[in-house]
Amino acid sequence: MGKIKVGILGATGMVGQRLIQLLDGHPWFEVGYVAASEQSAGKSYAAAVEGRWHSATAIPDRVRGLVVGDVAGIAKAMASCSLVFSALETDAAGVYEEKYAAAGLPVVSNASAHRHTPDVPMLIPEINPEHLGIIPAQQKSRGWKNGFIVVKPNCSIQSYMAPLHALREFGIKHVIVSTMQAVSGAGHPGVASLDIVDNIIPFIKGEEEKSEREPLKIFGRVSGSGIISDDSIRISAHCNRVPVIDGHMACISVEFKKKPSREQVLAAWKGFKGVPQELKLPSAPAQPIVYTDDPVRPQSRLDRDNGNGMVVTVGRLRECKVLDYRFVGLSHNTIRGAAGGAVLTAELLKAKGLV
Ligand code: NAP
Repeated sequence: MGKIKVGILGATGMVGQRLIQLLDGHPWFEVGYVAASEQSAGKSYAAAVEGRWHSATAIPDRVRGLVVGDVAGIAKAMASCSLVFSALETDAAGVYEEKYAAAGLPVVSNASAHRHTPDVPMLIPEINPEHLGIIPAQQKSRGWKNGFIVVKPNCSIQSYMAPLHALREFGIKHVIVSTMQAVSGAGHPGVASLDIVDNIIPFIKGEEEKSEREPLKIFGRVSGSGIISDDSIRISAHCNRVPVIDGHMACISVEFKKKPSREQVLAAWKGFKGVPQELKLPSAPAQPIVYTDDPVRPQSRLDRDNGNGMVVTVGRLRECKVLDYRFVGLSHNTIRGAAGGAVLTAELLKAKGLV
C-alpha cells in the first residue's frame, strides 16, 4: 500500500519545518502539499525558507522543489493530500482550519484556535486517546463528511502532563508549576536577541492561562456532544522565557488526595505506557516517561532529544514542604510539544481507521 499524502499548513515556520523534518522517510505519510502565507506562496519551498531553515539536516529533496501554496487555496490541497497538519499562526488557524475540515480533510493542529471548542479533541495520545470518540459528533453538528479537527495542547504543559497522568490513581488535587520555556516556542523570529540573551523574561502572553486550563480538558471525559473538563484539579502556573533554543523545563509541586510512596511514584512513571505504545505507532517512544537519578538532571541541552525528542525526562523527585512531592520535567517543545506530537496523533488516527 502507498503512503498517505499529507499537507502542511504553515510549513515555513518553526513547527512546519519540524514537521517536514519528521515526515522525511516516515513509514506511513509523505508530504504532498505545503502552504503558508501570501509572502511565501508561489515560491519553491527551498526559496521560501531561505535564510530561516532551522534544522541541522538539509531540506529533504522531495520537499525542496514543492511550490508553496497560499493557505487560502484549499482546492489544491484537496487534490494533493488526504490529511493536513496545521502549524499556522493562531489567527490564520482560526480562519482556515474549519474551512479545510469542511472541505473534507482531517486537520491535526498545533495552533490554539480550537483547543477549547468543546467537540474538538485536544490530544496527548498516551493520555486521552478516547477523546477521539467525539469526532462523529463534531462532524454531525457541522455537516462535515470526512473532515474533522483534532488539536494538540500547548507545548509548555507537555513536560508534566504525562508524569501527572501516570499518578492520577492517587487523586491529583493541587499543582503548582513554574516553566522555563525555550525561545523556539515563540516561533521565528520570536523574541529579540537583545531581550533574551543574558536574561529571563517572567511573562509569556496567554501561557499561564493555557497551562492552567488545558490540562483540565485533557483530563476530562467525553459526553454526548462535547468534552467535559475535570475541574476537580487546581493548577497555578508561572511561565518564564529563558535563553535556551529548544526544550521546555518545568518545576512541579503536586498534592494528592491519597499521597503515594516515593516507590509508588517511581514505579508508576517507569511502567507508564499508553495506546501508542500498545499499537507500536512509528513515533511512539517505547517508554514515554524516563526518570533520571542524576541530581543535576534533566538539563535542557543534554536531555531534550531523549527518545528522538518524544520522551519526557523527569528527575529530582523529592518531598515538598508545602504540597506532597516536587519534581522537574523536560520535553522538547517543537517535537513532543508540537510537530512530533502532531505526527503521533496522525498515526493514532490512521491506526484507528479515522484517516
Ligand atoms: P512561526 O514560526 O511564526 O510560523 C508561522 C507559520 O504560519 C508560517 O508558516 C507562516 O507563513 C504562517 N502564517 C503566518 N501568518 C499567516 C497568514 N495570515 N496566513 C497564512 N499563513 C500564515 O510559528 P511556529 O512557532 O511554527 O508556530 C506555529 C503554530 O504552532 C502556532 O499556532 C503556535 O502557537 C503553535 N505551537 C508552536 C510551538 C513551538 O514550540 N514553536 C509549540 C506548540 C504549538 P510565512 O512563513 O509565509 O509567514
